[in-house]
Amino acid sequence: KLIRFGEPCKEKPGVILSDGARVDVSAFGRDYDEAFFGGDGLTALAAWVKAHGASAPRVSPGTPGDTRLGPCICRPSKIVCIGLNYRDHAAESGMELPKEPVIFFKATTSLCGPNDNLTIPRNSVKTDWEVELAVIVGKRASYVSEDRALEHVAGYALHNDYSERTFQLERGGQWVKGKSCDTFAPLGPYLATPDEIADPGNLDMWLNVNGEKRQKSNTSNLVFGIATLVSSLSQFMTLLPGDVISTGTPGGVGLGMKPPQFLKPGDVITLGIAGLGEQRQVARAYA
Ligand code: ZN
Repeated sequence: KLIRFGEPCKEKPGVILSDGARVDVSAFGRDYDEAFFGGDGLTALAAWVKAHGASAPRVSPGTPGDTRLGPCICRPSKIVCIGLNYRDHAAESGMELPKEPVIFFKATTSLCGPNDNLTIPRNSVKTDWEVELAVIVGKRASYVSEDRALEHVAGYALHNDYSERTFQLERGGQWVKGKSCDTFAPLGPYLATPDEIADPGNLDMWLNVNGEKRQKSNTSNLVFGIATLVSSLSQFMTLLPGDVISTGTPGGVGLGMKPPQFLKPGDVITLGIAGLGEQRQVARAYA
């Protein structure tokens, strides 16, 4: 499992070993970026950890800066999101189930650590939550067939696709307006490689606001599965190593509540996916 830790924009790479130990792998000399994933970095890292993992420094709780987890990968070339990919979410959004994947982007500057505060953007009144399974691309993908698609996956991570519904839906398009604010893409706590996840198409997922259950589903409810998404996206764009594909959110977002409910300063958002860990964010006003 890959982690990154330390102050924002100064994160160091680390790994979580099977016994739960968090190891600083800075001495390996590479961070988790396009060159890493595209250059067979996972294999090289595994060999490095086997040789040096026992003697490498632990990530020590209590050391200033070292305990914050950053996003589990470096800023990617793109964050591609899938819209309306769960039946119940399409219904609560008042939209038809799409015939092929609906695609939109998040600005890569929205990326942040899994437990960083959520900043409610300036002039926002409808900041909303979306627990999602994120897929991290491991190998350049262009015109990939469905049966080879999973060969292009480096791993999986938990993602909260924060969304400002006014910006997204009432400000003249495109959805990217409401998806791209700073802190709108907490990713992690870690990237789990495919060998860690027996079936990414069958993972329980949940999200609470102030301890109250808002979303509860399973990735088996995805309308378009992971292989279909990777293949489909690769017909429209080249996916680069390290790119993020966020596969969509199930029902239970604030927009779909009666009456709708949105986040306010002080709210605590917790979420998780089986095998991919948990996140916790506290909402703060833009200052
Ligand atoms: Zn989403």
